[in-house]
Amino acid sequence: MRAEQGVSAKFRDPEWTAGGDRRAAVPLSGLETLWFNTGTLCNLACRDCYIESGPRNDRLAYLRRDEARRFLDEAGRNHPELAEIGFTGGEPFMNPDILGMLEDALATGRRTLVLTNAMKPMQRLKAPLLALNRRFPGMLTLRVSVDHHAQARHEELRGQGSWRSMMEGLAWLVDNDFTIAIAGRRRWGETEEAIRDGYGVLFDRLGLRRQGGDLVLFPEMDPEAEVPEISERCWGILGKRPDSVMCATSRMVVRRKEADRPVVLSCTLLAYDPQFEMGATLAEVARPVSLNHRFCAEFCVLGGASCGGGGH
Ligand code: SF4
Ligand code: SF4
Repeated sequence: MRAEQGVSAKFRDPEWTAGGDRRAAVPLSGLETLWFNTGTLCNLACRDCYIESGPRNDRLAYLRRDEARRFLDEAGRNHPELAEIGFTGGEPFMNPDILGMLEDALATGRRTLVLTNAMKPMQRLKAPLLALNRRFPGMLTLRVSVDHHAQARHEELRGQGSWRSMMEGLAWLVDNDFTIAIAGRRRWGETEEAIRDGYGVLFDRLGLRRQGGDLVLFPEMDPEAEVPEISERCWGILGKRPDSVMCATSRMVVRRKEADRPVVLSCTLLAYDPQFEMGATLAEVARPVSLNHRFCAEFCVLGGASCGGGGH
């Protein structure tokens, strides 16, 4: 049945847009990245955190090692295409099982990525992280959120004092030869060239360019902005392919507060919307994802973000 016409009816019907077109859907072309959300608790409460993390948000509970391992085992049996295992939060290093989960992920022989703010929770684990990085050389990447290359702008979102602790953590990672990526944001109206130049200066200061540190820039999501829906026709109009968005190649495991087992979501961006909950095992989650959320349009299809994890 078609949704009611009109602006207020946007993102209501999984199959039809408010304008009466068939809504775009994305088939899983292969499970190339499996994300684990370690829990939404975080030592920071950043402005506009896409998953609303903070010291009191435990809507996604701490995932346990045995729970993550069940999915790693299933992926090992059925998904030879799996190339990368990602951990996001919240702040993953606050999860008491994080080291065990990282060890299990790395032991599968896949690249393993952790999104972190590099502050105290990570710094408390320096010794075991060094040991893991030595045991699995080149397999572990830490992606550190540096919202802007200028302290004032980073702290505008993350709070006063957040820059210094982040920089201490980042410098430690550089000094100890971890593979590092930086996640920045494009929210201050600067050109991409200016942003990249600014980060370049920071990379030089830290010695990060020498190590080939990567920079990932995320588009902004404005909850008030008017966003078009994405219909099947949009792919052709925009010159974009369904397999370019994250849910074509990824899924994310979460455990909701008070749930007795984890579930698998379409992607890292829509943690609370039940329509993106796809099943309890990887076998159940291969069906296409209907792009029935404003983030699908704003962030993935029009914003051009193809790299997983969202902001952190
Ligand atoms: S937000 Fe992006 S990755 Fe997630 S379901 Fe929508 S299009 Fe797919
Ligand atoms: S953006 Fe990252 S560091 Fe900030 S509150 Fe959200 S999860 Fe925590």
